[in-house]
Amino acid sequence: MDLGLKDKVVIVTGGAKGIGEAISKLVATEGGIAVIAGRNAEDNEKTVQAIKSAGGKAFGIQAELGEVAECRKVIDTTVKQFGTIHAVINNAGVNDGVGLENGSPEKFMASLQKNLSHYYNLVHYALPELKKNKGSVVNIGSKVATTGQGNTSGYAASKGAINALTREWAVELLPYSIRVNTVIPAEVWTPLYETWINSLPNPKEKLASIVSKIPLEQRMTTSEEIASMTVFLISAHSSHTTGQIVYVDGGYTHLDRSIS
Ligand code: NAP
Repeated sequence: MDLGLKDKVVIVTGGAKGIGEAISKLVATEGGIAVIAGRNAEDNEKTVQAIKSAGGKAFGIQAELGEVAECRKVIDTTVKQFGTIHAVINNAGVNDGVGLENGSPEKFMASLQKNLSHYYNLVHYALPELKKNKGSVVNIGSKVATTGQGNTSGYAASKGAINALTREWAVELLPYSIRVNTVIPAEVWTPLYETWINSLPNPKEKLASIVSKIPLEQRMTTSEEIASMTVFLISAHSSHTTGQIVYVDGGYTHLDRSIS
């Protein structure tokens, strides 16, 4: 299936590692230009080089997305370099463990800044270009918005808001035929996941217990499986899909676990 992404300019936040890296690579494999926006220039460059050596097109922009001006810089630099933007994939985030008891109002606001504000800021600044192209947006959310996790109020609030903004933006952007969807991962082995599981007591046992409860095949979802859905959603093959929250999680969030 040709996804029709040849030379489409696609911004992938946090596109150098984990799920974002898989998305950047798939965008490039499909002929698109992966614009990787992430805080670490070396990480960005490593993924850009990997894509280029495989014959794809990619470009890195170093940006700390928690800063509004840095979000603006990502959009301006992309337009300067490639002339326009066809899609924004909001993916960067961190499960930073700011709880009710162990957190503070300041830490809570800082968590929203790390996990939520840049999703809005990037789409806000990219809008003039997305309008020209009938572009699309995919947000990467989390099952935590639906299930809770405990001790992570900032992350849970951000991911819940991202689900709400998906519906809100899908409605607001109907007149421009800009589609907005969200992909929800649950358990995907990435640098972020490794850090999180290792922060728990008995990480090996905890991991085995989680994996045994994933209904489909008792295994984690791969970053590539998240990337496949994400890239499909920005493609013309999803041309009548908007405002959807799609769980790519082997049934972990919703299926009856007593069946497996
Ligand atoms: P990851 O392995 O940590 O990769 C995220 C990348 O984004 C890293 O390169 C990170 O840089 C960068 N980044 C994060 N915040 C940034 C910021 N404010 N400014 C610039 N760069 C930033 O994470 P992942 O596991 O692939 O997660 C990607 C998305 O999936 C997140 O939104 C996460 O909430 C969601 N998710 C993941 C899982 C899972 O199981 N992995 C489950 C549910 C939801 P540094 O390495 O320098 O921090």
